[in-house]
Amino acid sequence: MILLKCLLYSLILVLVGCNNQDTPAKQFDPAQLGLIESTLNRLMVEQAIQMANTIANEANGFQLVPSWQPIKSTTGKEVFVYILRSENLAKSEMIFVPMECKQCVFLQNSDFHDWLNKYSDKQNASLKLDDYTVLAFLLLHELGHVHQGESSGAVNSSNESYNIKDTHQKEIERAADEFAASKIREAASKKGESRATTAMLVEIELSKLSWNLSAIRLLDHFGGTVINSHDLFWDMGYTHPNFELRILTVNNLVTQTETSYNLLKDFKDHIVNQPDILYQRDKVR
Ligand SMILES: [Zn+2]
Repeated sequence: MILLKCLLYSLILVLVGCNNQDTPAKQFDPAQLGLIESTLNRLMVEQAIQMANTIANEANGFQLVPSWQPIKSTTGKEVFVYILRSENLAKSEMIFVPMECKQCVFLQNSDFHDWLNKYSDKQNASLKLDDYTVLAFLLLHELGHVHQGESSGAVNSSNESYNIKDTHQKEIERAADEFAASKIREAASKKGESRATTAMLVEIELSKLSWNLSAIRLLDHFGGTVINSHDLFWDMGYTHPNFELRILTVNNLVTQTETSYNLLKDFKDHIVNQPDILYQRDKVR
């Protein structure tokens, strides 16, 4: 009888164990915020997550995990990545760590691709960007926010005014970019390891993005560079530094070459505090 009971308990434990393995250990349900998960582009996001984890190489630290995949056991260090539909999200909420869950990354699927299309292959002078490689960089940036314990997005809100004012929020964004850049640089230095190859892929994609940004600035905004136009060189809004400046800064932190330094310096030289009005008649005395 005792033997039978033992067998029964063992069977129950096995069944419970199997059941746990099939249950995603989600910390947070986005439906609480009226958000809907999307099943699109899961493979692409999984590739990006794998790249970001390989580069970050946090053996006992944070690990990005697709929210839709079951995990065997939790370490408490999972950072769940959710793909969301655009309902109830603003256009600027493309990718962010939500205030309600500091170990979650929300990615708005269609918005990410709309955003990327602005900078990729738009015209003959632009280079085609790989979505998962650019996303891997954005995930590393978000991982920086997770380390900071801050909730914040990766890009600025639109329709805000141009300024060069330093804000606490911009400092947080710079720190997240620096975190991502330091991880890429460190991984790239591990010659012969797979993380070095992965880091190189992100490095190349960031160089292409930088090229595209300058091509768009020079071709789509002809003349704007010469007159140091605010809409090209200043920050749009008070939460994030200028996007091209951020990418040039990250490139310089990662590669630390004379070229990357000069490209950054050249851009910074255009950030001048001059009045919008270029010509004004002398006042009548
Ligand atoms: Zn951010």
